Amino acid sequence: MAQSHVLGLPRVGAKRELKFALEQYWRKEISQEQLQQVATTVRENNWQSAQDKGIDWLTVGDFSFYDQVLDTSVLLGVVPERFEAGKADNLLDNYFRIARGSAPEGKQVQPSEMTKWFNTNYHYIVPEFTEEQSFSLNFDLLAPQIEQAKQYSAKLKLQLIGPVSYLWLGKARASNEFDKLGLLPKLVKTYQELLTHLKTEGVEWVQIEEPILALDLDDKWLNAITQAYTELGSESEVKLLLTTYFGHIADKFDRVAELPVDGLHLDVVSGGIDQLSEVVDYWPKSKVLSVGIVNGRNVWRNDLRQSLKALGAIKSRYGDNLWLSSSCSLLHSPVDLRSEQQLDAELTSWLAFAEQKVQEIADLTAALVKGEEAVRIALEASDASVASKKTSSRVHDLNVQERTTNITDILRQRQSEFSQRKLAQRAHFNFPVLATTTIGSFPQTDSIRQARRAFKAADISEQEYTLAIQKEIQQAIHEQEAVGLDVLVHGEAERNDMVEYFGEQLNGFAFTQFGWVQSYGSRCVKPPIIYGDVSRKQAITVEWSKYAQSLSHKKVKGMLTGPTTILAWSFEREDLPAPQIADQIALALRDEVLDLEKHGIDVIQIDEPAFRELLPLRKSEQPEYLEWSVNAFRLSASGVADTTQIHTHMCYSEFNEIIDSIARLDADVITIESSRSDMELLQIFNDFKYPNEIGPGVYDIHSPRIPTKEEVSELIELAAKHVPVDQLWVNPDCGLKTRNWDQVRPALKNLVEAAVEARQKL
Ligand code: GLN
Ligand code: ZN
Repeated sequence: MAQSHVLGLPRVGAKRELKFALEQYWRKEISQEQLQQVATTVRENNWQSAQDKGIDWLTVGDFSFYDQVLDTSVLLGVVPERFEAGKADNLLDNYFRIARGSAPEGKQVQPSEMTKWFNTNYHYIVPEFTEEQSFSLNFDLLAPQIEQAKQYSAKLKLQLIGPVSYLWLGKARASNEFDKLGLLPKLVKTYQELLTHLKTEGVEWVQIEEPILALDLDDKWLNAITQAYTELGSESEVKLLLTTYFGHIADKFDRVAELPVDGLHLDVVSGGIDQLSEVVDYWPKSKVLSVGIVNGRNVWRNDLRQSLKALGAIKSRYGDNLWLSSSCSLLHSPVDLRSEQQLDAELTSWLAFAEQKVQEIADLTAALVKGEEAVRIALEASDASVASKKTSSRVHDLNVQERTTNITDILRQRQSEFSQRKLAQRAHFNFPVLATTTIGSFPQTDSIRQARRAFKAADISEQEYTLAIQKEIQQAIHEQEAVGLDVLVHGEAERNDMVEYFGEQLNGFAFTQFGWVQSYGSRCVKPPIIYGDVSRKQAITVEWSKYAQSLSHKKVKGMLTGPTTILAWSFEREDLPAPQIADQIALALRDEVLDLEKHGIDVIQIDEPAFRELLPLRKSEQPEYLEWSVNAFRLSASGVADTTQIHTHMCYSEFNEIIDSIARLDADVITIESSRSDMELLQIFNDFKYPNEIGPGVYDIHSPRIPTKEEVSELIELAAKHVPVDQLWVNPDCGLKTRNWDQVRPALKNLVEAAVEARQKL
């Protein structure tokens, strides 16, 4: 009765060992053997721990030096032509060249593109296909992992991205785009060879992942699934566990049930537990049903009692064929709660990171196999955790709850419409047309980092720290006045991170020391944990903004992070719906906005770079998200007078389907990233007749390159073709914190000069 497995484990290491080793290797400080040794240890720890906990199937292939999609490309021989020239004579360096453009050995080259992995904060390397793409297997990355895994007594299951999702994730590289699906027959042949080979390597099951099944798919792609698995499944010697995650596949149960595969994995966390009662009508009991019931993307302890109850309805139907697992790979979870030394006992008792989640899967399985008595201690601990969270006064703040229930639509509404506010603001500010500004941050120099670190370590007093940051603000203001920008910023020197900084000053947030999650390559993020009702402890940015404003006669923009972005880049609580969490954050921000206004800051930017990112994968779920997300923004912004100008900012932006929601934010000014798309993005705003003001980025801040005045002028001219010039602002694509002053200074000078020239031509 019931078996356990995990879709995949984090590979960064409990103390980010792999990250540091990678970066040392890239800097040529350690050898490839030393890097391999760290990788071997990471896998050893993962497998040993899974085996010790009694997990039935060991997962191989979940390790990666950079990204699992890139590993798949290498495995299938999908390496773009341009990486051939100046190749290194070892595989790993060529692998890193694809990911990063450079490696200790081999020529520098334009790396492959990177993009977001579905709706997560993980980024993958986009496969590039040519129309004549051929596939050929290369086991060099995978073979040592399989070899190492054989040392364990548990049975082997290989994690593998399926052929259809693999094609879907890649891009067709050609002058005229061809149909990627034309490559499917060839690709399926290669997968067949692969499966045959795996059998000889002692792999019994392949967890073949088709995450695209959780998307809205058209017939073409659905048929591709049928075609691929009909061929793969009927001949495969290894067993296939068709694996989906990040959503439900209830609309495709009928189709999936017809495929000749041996098992199916469902994500019943993000896809909903209801899938269990529906799937039994389709999925035979003679096949494996893997239930992803432990959340792979959040940090909360599983309510074991509740999970067992849900499983109760299907356990006798599937018996031995019932597998329990994580909802998705634990790649998206922090590694080990035991590393945390600074969280208190109560909070700790509510949490589970990857290590603890593996234990939960083992415990749930043991409860089904041996009876609940066998895991009594675990069950009791889980019950106690649930009970304490339900009643804890740290979680539930009656004041916040009352305030959120009393929110009315009026609170989400500016006093006047934009057309009227525009007149009031023009009279009040008298900014020039094509007014120039920046997005908020200025270079995070060593002196800034040193000051912050010293203050955190209590090596300097609060007063000394304040003086240090004030010095940075002075420099930022001075530099901006020198180049002649119209609306200034204070530079964000006091912020390590745009979400963590606010979270630290809000009730309801907790911070970990080692809660790192891979974002891309060696880069990790450490999202705060929202565990309780959110409120503002005290004014957050007011003193810094006031100080900055005191230094200049020009306007200095206040700078806040918006509710959706704070939510998106945190681990959110599961006991309160997202719209309510967003509203709580919005109310705290609203207080901050009004405080800023009261102190004379009447240009205020509320950043929402994650607005697009949180858009649900399924069309049917998008309107609801857009509704609450827009509402939360409006709640944070709408308390101000007509003469206060609200800005917002969004980076990477596919605005196509959401332009009406962007308009509904009703920000007086929106700045967007657009320099690399040659202003094409603005066409959407034009088609929509977007009424408010827009600052399309005219300086690509992602590159160290300094744009010339002519380049900026060209972009301004292009922008003016799409949007009436009196609606336009001139600004960089995004914040400048990753640049240095020697780049920023001349770039901003060119930007301002180009704007001034453009004005003269009007
Ligand atoms: N105000 C932020 C900055 O300039 C915005 C960052 C972002 O868009 N990600 O750094
Ligand atoms: Zn940005």
